This record gives sequence, C-alpha cells and structure tokens, in this order.
Amino acid sequence: MDCLFCKLIAGEIPSKKVYEDDKVFAFEDINPQAPTHVLIIPKQHIEGLNKASAEDAEILGYMQLAAAKLGRERGIESGYRTVLNVGRGAGQSVFHIHLHLLGGRNLSWPPG
Ligand code: AMP
Ligand code: ZN
Repeated sequence: MDCLFCKLIAGEIPSKKVYEDDKVFAFEDINPQAPTHVLIIPKQHIEGLNKASAEDAEILGYMQLAAAKLGRERGIESGYRTVLNVGRGAGQSVFHIHLHLLGGRNLSWPPG
C-alpha cells in the first residue's frame, strides 16, 4: 500500500521513533509546531477518524493513553494537547490516522 506512515512503521522511511509496541508507533513530527510534537499512529492502517468503526474503539483509546504516557515522561503535564485533524478541511494531509501530541509551550484556544 502506498502509505507514508505504513512505510515509516516498516522502517522503509526513516523516522525519529520515540515509542513502539505491538499496537502503536510514535515518532517526532518532521515539522514540529511545539517543543514536544509527537505523532502516535496505529500499526493497523486506518485512514482517519471519519473512516473508523466500532472495532477501532480500543485502538483509538489506546493511542490517547500512549500520548498520556509520553506526556508524563516528557514532563509536559502542566498543559499539552492531543489532536486529530480529520479531513482536508481540518488540515489532514496524511491519510493514516495520527494523533498529534503537542506541548512544552503555552497553547492558545481555540486552535486555528
Ligand atoms: P496532518 O496535517 O494532521 O495530516 O499531520 C501530518 C503531519 O505529519 C504533519 O505535522 C507533518 O509535519 C508530519 N509529517 C509528514 N511527513 C513526515 C515524516 N516523514 N516524518 C515525520 N513527520 C511527518
Ligand atoms: Zn498506512
């Protein structure tokens, strides 16, 4: 399958891995928007939240918990954000679902 993030999981494209287990893979975003900007992706290919189904409920929660673990490890618990951009109108540019973990600076609300 011609998917950038599937290739990244397979090691065919290099990445700065920060965490991996049997379900998820996490790596530094190539164009960081905050001191911590990590992407957490499922090893199974899901295009986006709008394509997820009931069987994906567990992995979607697991991704969030992986973000919380990284947030603890990085000492950014005074304020961080987990974000799913869903669809081109929200800025989704890679169609393998990825949870952004952003932190290490003040984050304004609402996001742009
Ligand atoms: P989104 O705009 O929500 O689809 O997020 C895609 C993210 O993937 C962006 O923040 C990009 O900077 C990031 N990205 C794209 N290619 C790579 C790559 N090869 N390694 C790491 N991050 C990437
Ligand atoms: Zn993929």
